[in-house]
Amino acid sequence: MSQLSFFDAEPMESDTPFQAWKNDEPLLLAQIVFQTGLDGTFDYLLPESLEGQLHPGMRVMVPLGRGNRPTLGYFVGETVKTVDAKLRAKLKTIQSVVDTERLLSAKMLDLARWIAEYYFCPLGTVLEAMLPAGVRGQAATRLTSVLYVDDEFQKKIEHLQKLQRDKKNEPLLTKKQIYVLETLHKSAEPLSTSELCRAAKCSQVPIQALKRLGLIRVKTIRRETAPKPLDAAPANPADSLAHTLNPEQQRALDVIVDSVRKMEHKTFLLHGVTGSGKTEVYIRAIEQVVRYDKQAIVLVPEISLTPQTVGRFKGRFPNVAVLHSHLTDAERSRQWNKIARGEIQVVVGARSAIFAPVPRLGLVIIDEEHENSFKQDTAPRYHTRDVAGKRAALESVPLVLGSATPSLESWHAAKTGRFSLLSMFHRVKGRALPSVKIVDLREAVRAGNTKGAIHRQLHAAIHDSLQRSEQVILLLNRRGFSTQILCPACGNAVRCPECDVALTHHRTEEIALCHYCDYQIPAPTKCPKCDCFGIRYAGFGTQKLELEIKSRFPDASVLRMDTDTMQGHGSHERALARFRSGEIQILLGTQMIAKGLDFPNVTLVGVINADTALHLPDFRAPERTFHLITQVAGRTGRGEKEGRVIVQTFNPDHPAILAASRHDYLQFVDKELPVREVLGYPPYTKMLRFVFRGPDENATKHIAEMFADKLRGVLQELKSGKFRLLGPAPAPLAKLRSFYRFHLHLHLDSDDLMQRVLFQTINGLKTPDAIQWIVDIDPLDML
Ligand code: ADP
Ligand code: ZN
Repeated sequence: MSQLSFFDAEPMESDTPFQAWKNDEPLLLAQIVFQTGLDGTFDYLLPESLEGQLHPGMRVMVPLGRGNRPTLGYFVGETVKTVDAKLRAKLKTIQSVVDTERLLSAKMLDLARWIAEYYFCPLGTVLEAMLPAGVRGQAATRLTSVLYVDDEFQKKIEHLQKLQRDKKNEPLLTKKQIYVLETLHKSAEPLSTSELCRAAKCSQVPIQALKRLGLIRVKTIRRETAPKPLDAAPANPADSLAHTLNPEQQRALDVIVDSVRKMEHKTFLLHGVTGSGKTEVYIRAIEQVVRYDKQAIVLVPEISLTPQTVGRFKGRFPNVAVLHSHLTDAERSRQWNKIARGEIQVVVGARSAIFAPVPRLGLVIIDEEHENSFKQDTAPRYHTRDVAGKRAALESVPLVLGSATPSLESWHAAKTGRFSLLSMFHRVKGRALPSVKIVDLREAVRAGNTKGAIHRQLHAAIHDSLQRSEQVILLLNRRGFSTQILCPACGNAVRCPECDVALTHHRTEEIALCHYCDYQIPAPTKCPKCDCFGIRYAGFGTQKLELEIKSRFPDASVLRMDTDTMQGHGSHERALARFRSGEIQILLGTQMIAKGLDFPNVTLVGVINADTALHLPDFRAPERTFHLITQVAGRTGRGEKEGRVIVQTFNPDHPAILAASRHDYLQFVDKELPVREVLGYPPYTKMLRFVFRGPDENATKHIAEMFADKLRGVLQELKSGKFRLLGPAPAPLAKLRSFYRFHLHLHLDSDDLMQRVLFQTINGLKTPDAIQWIVDIDPLDML
């Protein structure tokens, strides 16, 4: 997309008076990229005054547009171009440099260019995504005046002392002043006035005098402000113990460490069942990395950034930086600078931590690599797995992808030799995977046994666990109280006028809420359409489940975890701490409880409704269902006690549910991959999704159709192998926040020509202002 242009954004009058330039003179030009709005790279003249000060990855101020508005841009490189007089006259000059150090290394700039090209996103937008706001805003730093002695200082003193001797006057320099000068001279860093006062145990008087004599000079630098103590997870002493690896772990470790040592880029897919000790393998591999004086980046889903995970790393390495989304700009910026200075051994963070500026990268790890949250849902719509792969390749280091349920993309890559597969089939210490029982909800319905969400068998199992003072996890992946508000008279469900989806009843506030746009109305007592009073609230959400559990087990302590109860900063961590301590016996919630938790006293996991994701209009629906059930089932039987799982479903014969009930990933992929291949879905095709949205349904549809025609034409012309273009069709969320949405799916059998297809189709594409569109490469969101 980086379209080179000799000009500023718009054609404009010359800034510099015309001079007699030789025609076609080669000129060294600075390439500048802007943050937003302007696509492409723009060329500027480099003033001599900045020579030697400007490095790629620094930001500059440049004049932009007709008004020469001073604008912040990124200096991304230099280019030599042959410029004729007319063009030369139009070029503008960089005004000033903003940063004292480069924000991005050469390799990170290469990575940014790759992301921009692959995801078809302006480079400026990519740079914004790579650099935390706090770093861009220089949070946690401020400009300070500092004192220093200049190089001539010895000579000046000697000169003064000579004067003093000759004239035999009152001493020009007091003992105190000389001591102050020596103190400042010896200091490794420049000191502020108050710091020098402290260091030389003096008042400001001698310092002022020395400034007047020109012996102490003043300059302004940018300094980090003192950090406030972080509320970081403390290292857990128990976590600092290394386990003796079992043979499966040892083998995986040996292979990874071999690549670390050889400094070769390879991607390993570490497929290990839940509780097989993958984290221990990561830690051991990082120990090697640290021994080579290098650093590691560990990426986990945001939801797994619990004190438990973090504590395991902190217990084993002294310098761990944790990058989670609750950091303030200042905290994040401080961490970032520490990382850039090489003071951190291990960076643990969510998605964007892949951009952490570690100076000597040795290894990248992505845990739970199948998680959808590794894909960013705003531009640049990158997948962390692919960006990590690119970064690891640029820096010649291995990448480890870990999961009990690898994404089919990664599995396919391993099967076709792009990734190396490392398998761990057994839980540590010979612990058994929990037995899974499927409860057929259809039978319950036939038996007229439909009261409540908890079937008899699940009730009995919960009862047993509570009797033995063990703990229970219940998964229901729907928040709210009733998931549908129905009118029996007219058959309507109460819907969001902005999004056209059913509203969910939230009982705590007595509202009907849209889960997509937060539209809300007081919970209706009569049908908004036909005024009938017999309105019915149906369907189960976590709020209703909580109520049912409390009435079934009045003596048990119950905690609900979903986005409604986990709003405050730290609430997630506090809730898990209460569960860990045993204060809470039954933990119920949405998928946020399904991931990564390791609680030895949990002996029962109940899946209230395994089908919530099964019927979504998304070809990955079975895969999602399989992941969720397998992951939540893996939360039990992790201690000495055996665990068991009860899965309630209306689809007991569905392959994804059957495979999950057997913890059989291979059975699942053997069924699912051929389906994908036959239907021409990823990982067998390269997929692109285009979404058009606008306030007018027909106009939006019309633009989407025109685009589809153009795209089809380009594809046919380029003869780019086989392709399949579906749509435009209304997106499953056909209306969202009062915008109508249409989408197109493009499947290519190779991605060789993807960039050309996109460029030729999108170049010159004009849509009316009201209609917006996006392209999503390798999309995960089909709604
Ligand atoms: P996974 O990440 O594969 O789910 P973990 O790394 O969390 O598994 O390991 C599960 C539990 O087993 C943890 O409590 C961990 O400390 C422990 N563990 C890991 N490796 C060993 C081992 N070799 N011997 C004994 N316990 C181990
Ligand atoms: Zn809505």
